[in-house]
Amino acid sequence: MSEYRAPVKDALFALRHIGELEQLAATELYAHADLETVTSVLEEQGRFMQEVFGPLNASGDREGLTWSPEGVETPAGFKEAYAKFVDAGWQGLNAHVEYGGAGFPESVFAVAAEFETAANGALTMCPGLTTGAIECLQAWGTEEQKEVYLRKLVSGEWSGTMNLTEPQAGSDVGLCTTKAVPQGDGTYMVSGTKIYISFGEHDMVDNIIHLVLARLPDAPAGTKGISLFIVPKFHVGDDGAIGERNDVRCVSIEHKMGIHASPTCVMSFGDDGGATGYLVGEENQGMRAMFTMMNSARIAVGIQGAALGDTAYQKALAYAQERRQGRKIGGDSKEPALIIEHPDVRRMLLFMRSHIEAMRALIVYNAAAIDLSRALSGDEAELWEETAELLTPVTKAWCTDVGMEVTSTAIQIFGGMGYIEESGVAQHYRDMRIAPIYEGTNGIQAMDLVGRKLGLRMGGVVNDHLAKIRAVDAELAAAGKEFDSIRTTLSEATESLSGVTEWIMTNGMADPIQALSGATPYLRIFGIVTGGWLLARQALAAQAELDAGSSDVEYLRAKITTARFYAEQYLPTAAGLVPSVQAGSSALFEVDGAALASV
Ligand SMILES: Cc1cc2nc3c(=O)[nH]c(=O)nc-3n(C[C@H](O)[C@H](O)[C@H](O)COP(=O)(O)OP(=O)(O)OC[C@H]3O[C@@H](n4cnc5c(N)ncnc54)[C@H](O)[C@@H]3O)c2cc1C
Repeated sequence: MSEYRAPVKDALFALRHIGELEQLAATELYAHADLETVTSVLEEQGRFMQEVFGPLNASGDREGLTWSPEGVETPAGFKEAYAKFVDAGWQGLNAHVEYGGAGFPESVFAVAAEFETAANGALTMCPGLTTGAIECLQAWGTEEQKEVYLRKLVSGEWSGTMNLTEPQAGSDVGLCTTKAVPQGDGTYMVSGTKIYISFGEHDMVDNIIHLVLARLPDAPAGTKGISLFIVPKFHVGDDGAIGERNDVRCVSIEHKMGIHASPTCVMSFGDDGGATGYLVGEENQGMRAMFTMMNSARIAVGIQGAALGDTAYQKALAYAQERRQGRKIGGDSKEPALIIEHPDVRRMLLFMRSHIEAMRALIVYNAAAIDLSRALSGDEAELWEETAELLTPVTKAWCTDVGMEVTSTAIQIFGGMGYIEESGVAQHYRDMRIAPIYEGTNGIQAMDLVGRKLGLRMGGVVNDHLAKIRAVDAELAAAGKEFDSIRTTLSEATESLSGVTEWIMTNGMADPIQALSGATPYLRIFGIVTGGWLLARQALAAQAELDAGSSDVEYLRAKITTARFYAEQYLPTAAGLVPSVQAGSSALFEVDGAALASV
């Protein structure tokens, strides 16, 4: 049993009040996802993660992986835990029912993914990548590809990977040089090297289905000339049986700062003439198909912020309740006090708790927007799809930046002991550090928000988002005195976001470099305000439950206080970031690159 406890109650609260669970369950697509069913699924999944994945987290980190030319050996217990995961059917939780999935909403899956990641972030990378491959094949695979590959991915018997990165093609995927040569029989010979491929090789499954970006011989330059291929580790016969090995190998694995139990592989395709690949979607349309996978993966990476933040918070809280140092301010006891009695430690704990709840709510809202875009039709569906598009870079970047701060704060609460590996919190910080980098760095996410998403429907999408935030004001006004500070700070922060959005839209057209220079602080403001709005909505929902006579007084009161803390201490920081956005680029480029050297 691990120490991690899946926060099922709070996740259900977010699903009910932010994730529109009731509305989703009223649709044909998600009629099976009623509250009772979702509750029992999440309770069971949370228990499974606590008992099966969780206990291997620290040992997997210590033991790491073993590479040999034959393959990659995962740490002790991983194979068995993964087999139990497959048997329990957790891989297919959100996959299409016709291919063996359970067809639950993305928002329910997001919460389950949080529990899984919090229990064991490194091991969860494997099913996480498989989920991306499933989404991609569901959307773009042929019927035959779905029959051959999708079913086995949905069951978890085989795993999936995402092969984008090459030594010269990182953020700029358009520089990809991996080749795919048509063989005249519908297949392609794929050759090239991919780096940093998560779970590119491992011993937990019988076959690995690589989704690989490559370029046809006559392809146009850049992202317009990229195609997507299935390259299985082992060929698959017409009867579905595993055959000969394909010409793809893991030639080494990286030694990393964190996620030690997740193999990060250098993959070589075509050392012996060429790996057989099968086109997914159309030629030169690979980026469109890959984006299906990347959007789901970006939310999954955002989830890492909430998940690792929460597991670190649980440890820090327990430590603060047993470590004694210093006297209680204003107390008359001569005994050292528990550190949780000190205002600064309280502040750190509430910083962590409020941001975890804000991240969880943002993730659920983003995922529910995808669900509603699928379950509804016409204009309504389109509006939700736009919301999901707008929010995805914020979920990815804000939640991972905040996740770094939350895991770092856990170390601070432990004091010196936090820096010592034995405490376990150092691992969460190390594991977290990759999340602002992969799946498009947070800098790239900020550029996506400013450069593409703000312009959606000529600014209509972001304005709709701001209008929804403003709409909560009347409810806050009616909710009584306790909600006054939430109301004031949310309103002020929203006007800061609105003003700076307008500034970016006006100046960005004339001078994109001005707008992009402030993209990162802009995304931060966006995250702070959206997080504050979602906490305010949850506080109102908690008050409504109290007014209706709920007996869960302690939990509901804590929701309101947590939202108030965030509103009073963090919403005001949004205004402070506005000058950073509007400072533009002049100071950034005034000094020549060479002159930036230390002297
Ligand atoms: C542990 C791990 C697992 C990974 N798993 C996978 C995987 O499964 N599959 C896969 O394909 N890849 C994977 N990656 C690769 C990862 O997605 C890339 O590292 C990431 O996209 C960044 O690319 P890069 O490392 O080449 O950095 P670069 O692109 O060289 O970026 C360096 C810096 O420059 C900035 N930058 C670059 N271009 C711009 C720009 N146009 N404007 C502003 N700033 C810019 C970046 O934000 C960053 O700060 C993994 C990486 C790691 C470390």
